[in-house]
Amino acid sequence: MQITIIGFWHAFPEAGEAASGYLLEEEGFQLLLDCGSGVVSQLQHYTELSGIDAVLLSHYHQDHVGDFGAFQYYRLLEPILWPEKHHQVPVYAHRQDEEGFQRLFYKEVVQPTEYRAEDPFVAGPFTITPVAVKHAVPCFGFRIETASGSLFFTADTSYIPEIAQAAAGVDILIAESSFYAGQDGSFAGHMNSEEAAKLAEKAEAGKLILTHLPHFGEHIQLKKEAENIFSGPVELAATGLKLTIE
Ligand SMILES: [Zn+2]
Ligand SMILES: [Zn+2]
Repeated sequence: MQITIIGFWHAFPEAGEAASGYLLEEEGFQLLLDCGSGVVSQLQHYTELSGIDAVLLSHYHQDHVGDFGAFQYYRLLEPILWPEKHHQVPVYAHRQDEEGFQRLFYKEVVQPTEYRAEDPFVAGPFTITPVAVKHAVPCFGFRIETASGSLFFTADTSYIPEIAQAAAGVDILIAESSFYAGQDGSFAGHMNSEEAAKLAEKAEAGKLILTHLPHFGEHIQLKKEAENIFSGPVELAATGLKLTIE
């Protein structure tokens, strides 16, 4: 499995970058995980929009779906301008916020499919298990598995030990770290670097990637703080960072 980080910013993208977005590839199948502000533009540095085979959304905050409107318009134009490239693209999303779910529908070209907590489903070579996390709004993390390995994405959440169980033994844990050590982000449904590292340590993850990074402080500090707790390798999310699980 190859993972490309398209965007990693908390809340809004900084200049020339994007909020939450990850491109997952296995056997030529491309899954877009989250579609935050700036993602549709950034994504085209790494693949054609027509190359996306499925979309998976964690929740309906704009830093996770802000560019879904741009994706809808692309889907509208694709069969007109590039009919040879047109194919069905399932969009997987939760229905615990009915208004958010309904906003994903667009004419005939986008018809979302509901996923449910703890109910694994298959998208191409990916088996995806949604895991309810603890955020300001209904939100899901995902355990994502292929023949080559496994990944867990926390999406937006405060620290809950259940995530460590759901992420047990994954090759890579992509965990949000919206705050620095000692800061309590739980009021807003977010974790700090130490909590992300604690999850990685409990889950015995092979590697920890810190993402959903804040617009203050020095990000390198987050890495140092996580390394004090997690015994495995820690990396900061960065635009275009590629990770391989084999
Ligand atoms: Zn959120
Ligand atoms: Zn967010």
